[in-house]
Amino acid sequence: MINVVKRFVPEAVKKYYKKMFFKPSYLGDKYFCPVCKTAVAYFQRLSDYYFERFDKHQFIHSIFAMETFNILNHSCPACGVSDRDRLYALYFTNRFNTLDKSKKHTFIDFAPEPSLGMFIKSHSFLEYRSADLFMEEVNDRVDIADMTVYEDNSADIFLCSHILEHVENDRKATCELYRILKGGGFGIVMAPILLTLKEVYENPRITSEADRWKHFGQNDHVRMYSKEGFVSRLGDAGFKVYQLGIDYFGADVFERHGIHPRSVLYVVEK
Ligand SMILES: [Zn+2]
Repeated sequence: MINVVKRFVPEAVKKYYKKMFFKPSYLGDKYFCPVCKTAVAYFQRLSDYYFERFDKHQFIHSIFAMETFNILNHSCPACGVSDRDRLYALYFTNRFNTLDKSKKHTFIDFAPEPSLGMFIKSHSFLEYRSADLFMEEVNDRVDIADMTVYEDNSADIFLCSHILEHVENDRKATCELYRILKGGGFGIVMAPILLTLKEVYENPRITSEADRWKHFGQNDHVRMYSKEGFVSRLGDAGFKVYQLGIDYFGADVFERHGIHPRSVLYVVEK
């Protein structure tokens, strides 16, 4: 009988019944992903890939001193987004409520995360554009330190997440972000921040992948930010910088969405 089912029932029908009767094991009530809007039993811890690299290259810092980084409740088992992406979705959900929905607001998503991109695009009052220097399927091919494709004051909102630590001239990049943002617009700018550093750690002699793992925590990072250094570079570009943490979002909200209590969202305005 089983062989008969295997042979004659179409794949699509089998998949449909499988989905109906076998719910994914990650579903549950404990947590909620605001990006894919799924109630889940857990978030997945950071991949062993990183721990193995940190160990192999003898990373000189502790990842437990990073500001917004939930190592134990890291990625959503349903859509894959990280804790920081969930933090952005929480903020956008609040902030979008304040927008005039009768207008279209230009949103530029740099180095887009696919699931978060879907979440952003689902808002009909946004004119969504994805942008990156290397990714194939983006709307705009852009060097963030020289964004000739965008005019001054052309974006209402942007998201620049974990890009500046890859960019040689991050000051030029933040000035470009300031230039393209409309007055009254806002953006989210995030980068890895190590709370034990007093100032930004850069060293142009550190160029090999092994050394970058060792000093900056990833093969293609060119610096490690201190909190003060990160904020002051954003301010130097002209931005008003707002730091939104657990007091803004609430401890219950952080817990429910798998955000670490010491996480801070950097919102910039022009
Ligand atoms: Zn999700």
